[in-house]
Amino acid sequence: MTTSPVRDPAAPSHGGRPRVVIIGSGFGGLFAAQRLRKADVDITLIGKTSHHLFQPLLYQVATGILSEGEIAPATREVLRRQENARVVLGEVIDIDLAARTVTSTVLGRTTVHPYDELIVAAGAGQSYFGNDRFAEFAPGMKSIDDALELRGRIFGAFELAELAETQEEVDRLLTFVIVGAGPTGVEMAGQIAELAHRTLRRDFRNIDPTTARVVLLDAAPAVLPSFGEKLGGRARRQLGQTGVEVQLGAMVTDVDANGIEIKDGDGQVRRINAATKIWAAGVQASGLGRLLGEQSGAEVDRAGRVAVQPDLTLPGHPEVHVVGDMMALDKLPGVAQVAIQGGRYAADQIMRRMAGKTPKPAFEYHDKGSMATISRFHAVVDLGTLKFEGFIAWLMWLALHLFYIVGFKSRVTTVLHWLVSFLGRGRSQRVATQQQVYGRLALEHLGPGWEASKTGGPKTAPPADEDMTGRQSA
Ligand SMILES: Cc1cc2nc3c(=O)[nH]c(=O)nc-3n(C[C@H](O)[C@H](O)[C@H](O)COP(=O)(O)OP(=O)(O)OC[C@H]3O[C@@H](n4cnc5c(N)ncnc54)[C@H](O)[C@@H]3O)c2cc1C
Repeated sequence: MTTSPVRDPAAPSHGGRPRVVIIGSGFGGLFAAQRLRKADVDITLIGKTSHHLFQPLLYQVATGILSEGEIAPATREVLRRQENARVVLGEVIDIDLAARTVTSTVLGRTTVHPYDELIVAAGAGQSYFGNDRFAEFAPGMKSIDDALELRGRIFGAFELAELAETQEEVDRLLTFVIVGAGPTGVEMAGQIAELAHRTLRRDFRNIDPTTARVVLLDAAPAVLPSFGEKLGGRARRQLGQTGVEVQLGAMVTDVDANGIEIKDGDGQVRRINAATKIWAAGVQASGLGRLLGEQSGAEVDRAGRVAVQPDLTLPGHPEVHVVGDMMALDKLPGVAQVAIQGGRYAADQIMRRMAGKTPKPAFEYHDKGSMATISRFHAVVDLGTLKFEGFIAWLMWLALHLFYIVGFKSRVTTVLHWLVSFLGRGRSQRVATQQQVYGRLALEHLGPGWEASKTGGPKTAPPADEDMTGRQSA
C-alpha cells in the first residue's frame, strides 16, 4: 500500500527549537548526532537501516568470525539516552533545498521532514565501474545483507565441493577470487585463506579444504597502494605465506556464474574458473549527492561525491552540511575518520551558529593513520612517518577496532569470538541460511521498484569508472 506524503507528525513545530535532520546512521550521521547531545535542538536521524554499521569488520561477519549484531547495534539503542534525538526508519528519496524538507519512505509510507539544519551523511555503495551485471555473480561488501550472502556462498562452496563428482568441479568450487587489493580485499582474502587452511582443515571427508585456491586480483600494480610501496610489498609477501595468490595488473573484463575473465597487462585474456567471486573494488556515493548538486549548483564528481565548501556546506546553503563518503574536499579519502571528524565538525558549526558565535575555521582533517590485517597475528600500520607491520601492528589493529565498536556488550562478545578464531581454530558464526544466499537475487528479480529502494534513492548517476577512496582499486 502506498500513502500520499504526510508531514512528519512527530516533527517539532516551526518557531520552536531548531530542527536538525540527519540523513544516515553511519559514521558521519551517528557521530554528528552524538556531538549534538547537549545542544538545545530537536534531532531527527533518518536511516534506511535500523542499525549503525561498523563497515570495517564486515569481512569478519562474511567469514564467520563475528555475528552481525556485534558490528551493527540498533541506532535507537545507541541513542536511547539522548533525549533530543529521535530515530526514524526510512529511505530518503528527496531533499528540497528551497522548501527545507527531506522526504523519506518506508514500505509505501512517505513522510516529509522539515529542517532548519540538515546533515547529509548517506555514504556510498558499491561501484562495478559501469558493469552492474557483475553484481549478480560477484557480490560486493557494503551491508550486513552482503556479508551474510557472502558467508553463505563461501561456506556453501565447501559443502558443494564435498558432493562434487569430478575434480574439475571441486577445483571450481574451491577457488575464491577477490577483486580489489585495497584493505577490504586484502583482509577478505587473508581470512578466506585462514578459513580453508586452519578452520576447515579437518571438517570434510571427500575434499581437502587446504587445497582451496584464494586469488586476489587488481588492475593496479600494487597491493594496498595507499600504504606505499614498502608496506604494500610486505603485505604482498605475507599474503603469499598465508596462501593467497596475488595477481596484479589484472583487469576484470567479465564475470559469470562459473568464473571470471581477466585481461593482463600484456593484453592476454584468460579465465579463472571459480564459484565464489567477491567484489571489493570501487565505490559510488549515494544518489542523494546528485540531487543536492542539481539544486545548489555544487559540482558532483564521477564517483557521485558533492564538492563542498571548506566548511562542509553546500554553496549558497550554509544550513546544509555534507559529510563522509558523500563529500568531495581536498581529495580526502573515503574512510571512517573523515566521516567521524566531518560529522562532529558539522555539529559544532550548528551549535556555534545557534550561540551566535563566529563559525569555526575551514574543516581540517587530522589523519590518524591507516591499518589493515593480513592474517592472524599480522597487520600493517601506516602512521605517516611511522610505518610497520607484524604482531604489534596486529595488536594495535585489535585495540583500535575494539575501541570504535559501539556498545559494551558488543565489545565483550567480539573479544570472545576473536579468542575463538585467533587463539583457537574455530569460527563461532558459521550459520548460513538459504535466504541469505538467494534472497538478494530473488528480490532483485522483483524489478525496478526494489532496485531503487536498495541503492539509496534516485538512480540518476551514471556508474563511476574511477575509484573515489584510494582504499580500493581494480
Ligand atoms: C567493507 C568495508 C571496509 C572498510 N574498512 C575501513 C577501515 O578499515 N578503515 C576505515 O577508516 N574505513 C573503512 N571503510 C570505509 C568507511 O566505512 C567509510 O568511509 C565510512 O563508513 C563512511 O561513513 P559515512 O557516514 O559517510 O557513510 P556510512 O557509514 O556508509 O553511512 C551511510 C548511512 O546512510 C544510510 N543511507 C544511505 N542512503 C540513505 C538514504 N537514501 N536514506 C536514508 N539513509 C541512507 C546508510 O544506511 C548508512 O546508515 C570500509 C568500508 C567498507 C565498505
